[in-house]
Amino acid sequence: MSDAATLRTPAGPALLRRTDRTTLAISVLPDGMLELVAPHDARESEIVAKVRKRLRWIVRQRTAFSDMNRGREPLRYESGATHRYLGRQYRLKVQRGQPGSVRLVGGYFHVTTPTGLSLEVKTALDAWLRVKAVEQFANRLAEWGPWCAARKLPLPRVRLLRMPKRWGSAHRDGRIYLNPELVLAPSICVDYVIAHEVCHLKHPHHDRSFFRLLDQVCPNWRQIKARLEEQ
Ligand SMILES: [Zn+2]
Repeated sequence: MSDAATLRTPAGPALLRRTDRTTLAISVLPDGMLELVAPHDARESEIVAKVRKRLRWIVRQRTAFSDMNRGREPLRYESGATHRYLGRQYRLKVQRGQPGSVRLVGGYFHVTTPTGLSLEVKTALDAWLRVKAVEQFANRLAEWGPWCAARKLPLPRVRLLRMPKRWGSAHRDGRIYLNPELVLAPSICVDYVIAHEVCHLKHPHHDRSFFRLLDQVCPNWRQIKARLEEQ
């Protein structure tokens, strides 16, 4: 931006913009750059002092962004590459052979396909993860059957649905849509998302009654949600 200047701060160089706002806004951009939007009359020494106070927060933001950027690296589908399943990392061992199969042995995914080519390995592993997702989600959701019955709620049934920015959604009739990628996250996160969606069968909106119920059925959901967001 043309009106941005660079300011030296304890968190490194920052972009400083002046606007009509009355307080300083500090944000960390996805590339880790610090952006400061300050009132016209704020002195640079005051701004620097405020940045110093927020140092820990700034470091946390940068770590979160760099983790996210790392997470966006394309997955590799060859021996030695790592893949996640229920919050754990497993290494791939690719073998050529018939029939194709995926087995989890110790810390390894043993993937056998006719050619061992990446695309084939990806197809096999994705299919295996989808089957596991349905299995895991359905088993965990089944535990909510009696709870729903006692509250005259429809029996929850799981469906997989890829959603770009959501882990799940619930339908009044008991259908619970879960993002298949959730199977990569720790099972405690799976349980939290399911609890959240089951609560929606009773309270469709994120209102106070919804959160009261969620607090009851999953008291530490905030920590779990934070953990899920790091995924
Ligand atoms: Zn919700």
